[in-house]
Parts: sequence; C-alpha cells; structure tokens
Amino acid sequence: MSLLRRPSKPHPVFRPLAVAEVDPVAEHAVSIGFDVSEMPAFLDYRAGQYVTLRALVGGEDVRQSYSIWVPPSRARREGIIRVAAAAVQGGRMSPWLASEVEVGEVMGVLPPLGEFTLDEAAGPRHHVGVVGGSGITPVLAITAAALEQHSESTFDLIIANRTRASTVLGREVADLEAASGGRLRVEHVMSREAVDGVRHGRIDPLVIRAVLDDVGGPADVDDWWLCGPEGLIADVEAWLAGSGVGVEHIHRERFTSTGPVDPLKKP
Ligand SMILES: Cc1cc2nc3c(=O)[nH]c(=O)nc-3n(C[C@H](O)[C@H](O)[C@H](O)COP(=O)(O)OP(=O)(O)OC[C@H]3O[C@@H](n4cnc5c(N)ncnc54)[C@H](O)[C@@H]3O)c2cc1C
Repeated sequence: MSLLRRPSKPHPVFRPLAVAEVDPVAEHAVSIGFDVSEMPAFLDYRAGQYVTLRALVGGEDVRQSYSIWVPPSRARREGIIRVAAAAVQGGRMSPWLASEVEVGEVMGVLPPLGEFTLDEAAGPRHHVGVVGGSGITPVLAITAAALEQHSESTFDLIIANRTRASTVLGREVADLEAASGGRLRVEHVMSREAVDGVRHGRIDPLVIRAVLDDVGGPADVDDWWLCGPEGLIADVEAWLAGSGVGVEHIHRERFTSTGPVDPLKKP
C-alpha cells in the first residue's frame, strides 16, 4: 500500500447564485434557472445529477436537493442550469420555491452531485423511464442526453400524474417527443382526471407491458430509470426483479428529504 496520501478533493462549498429565471412548469411547480456561464464547476455535470439549494426560509436555514432537468449540452450552450421544484404540502422549501422566489433572489447552491446518471460511454440503448410527479426532472435530462448520445437509442417514458395541470414539465416532455423523430414515446397515466387517449389509473405491470408490447419484454430493455414516489419505485423494482431483470439494468432515485425533518415541529 502506498504511503503517499492522495490529494483530497476540495470540499464542495455553497456558492451564492442569483436566480436568473423562474417559470411555471405545472400548477404548484416551477423551473428555476441559475446563470452559471462563468462557473465551470456547475456546467461540468452528468445528466441525472442534482444541486443542493440552501436558503433562509421563514428564518430557518433549509437545504434541499433539486435535479437538473436540462441536459448538459443545453446548459453549456446557454450557460444556465435549470431545476424544477414541485410544492410538497407542509414542506419548508418547496412551497417557498414554487410560489415566492423571484428573479434576483440569492441562494446558496452546491455544484452538481449524484449517481443516478447516464453512462456517457454506452453504445445505442433502449431505455425505459417510469416516473411519477416531480420524478420526471432528472429523467427528462437523461432522456434528452440519451437521444443525443446515439442516433439509434430509443426511449419509452411512462409518466404518472394526477391531472394534466399537475403534470410537471409536461410541455417540455411533449417538445422533446415531437423533436425525437419517433425515438421517444411518451405514455401518460393520470389518476384523477379522465382524458381521451390517456390511460386512467396508476402505473402497474400491465401498463408497462402494454407500452413495451412491440419492443419485447422487460428483460429486453437495456436501462430502466425509476424516479418518483417510494411506492411506485418499490412496486416496479419488485416486478422487474421477478421478471428476471438484473440490478445492473435498474437505476433509481428517491426524492426523500435530505434535510432534518422534525415531525413534532409545525411547518
Ligand atoms: C437526490 C434528490 C433529488 C431531488 N430532486 C427533486 C426535484 O427535481 N424536484 C422536486 O420537486 N423535489 C426533488 N427532491 C425532493 C426535495 O429535495 C425536497 O425533499 C422536497 O422539495 C421537499 O422539501 P421541503 O423542504 O418542501 O419539505 P420538508 O420540510 O423536508 O418536508 C415536509 C414534509 O413533507 C414530507 N416530504 C418531503 N419530501 C417529500 C416528497 N418528495 N413527497 C412527499 N412528501 C415529502 C416530509 O416527510 C415531511 O413530512 C429531490 C430529493 C433528492 C434527495
């Protein structure tokens, strides 16, 4: 074993960044953009990573993570990273982000982190994303980057939401699908609104099998991307395991709270 110590990586620090744009991306959800054109540490990220935001909310120092929804190529072109936050009822940071933050607000931002990421060296792949609510955020960046990566890669995206209005980044998903030349197929599943041509209910194995009908079974998919409510991820993971899909094909991100949550404290 070498006695030489490796130089330790610099400890990431929160950088004060001013909000450059705020755009609604669903009811109770916004996209927040930060101009990082002069900050390579923020542009050198992999599709699927997140940043941690730190702000004083109601006098409390709160830190939470939010995934970047734009692919790295677009962020580098425009010099802007964009995250999307959906308000969680009773939450400390997300309702503040979704309804109070304005352009010019300065908050602490940690450079991108996370292992729920696209393998940039992989060959052409068939990807399937299964997401719920704000879980679309990292998967949208992964989808765009995967389609850019190989002209033969394809993506099936199954998205659960309550209603059309609550569908986070719905317009951005539709734009990507329209520009994909048929390589991205999107299946929306809505639990609280009946819409012509849209599946009603919840995502279950029958829905996933129907979407994959013409491309094979679950074991024919190269990469599964799961992000959303705990129950959805657990159900799909259990079904994939029972269908013989190896863990190396399954990627998942859980949006559990990163900050300390005191259940006795009133929000
Ligand atoms: C790696 C990572 C990436 C993330 N990316 C995103 C993203 O792109 N967009 C996004 O909107 N959120 C994302 N989240 C979730 C986000 O970090 C916060 O946890 C969420 O916004 C709630 O924070 P809060 O301060 O409003 O709620 P808190 O004050 O932390 O929590 C208040 C209450 O809500 C519950 N709660 C916390 N989070 C959730 C949740 N997601 N769903 C339901 N109940 C919850 C808590 O248990 C608690 O009871 C991500 C989380 C992680 C760990």
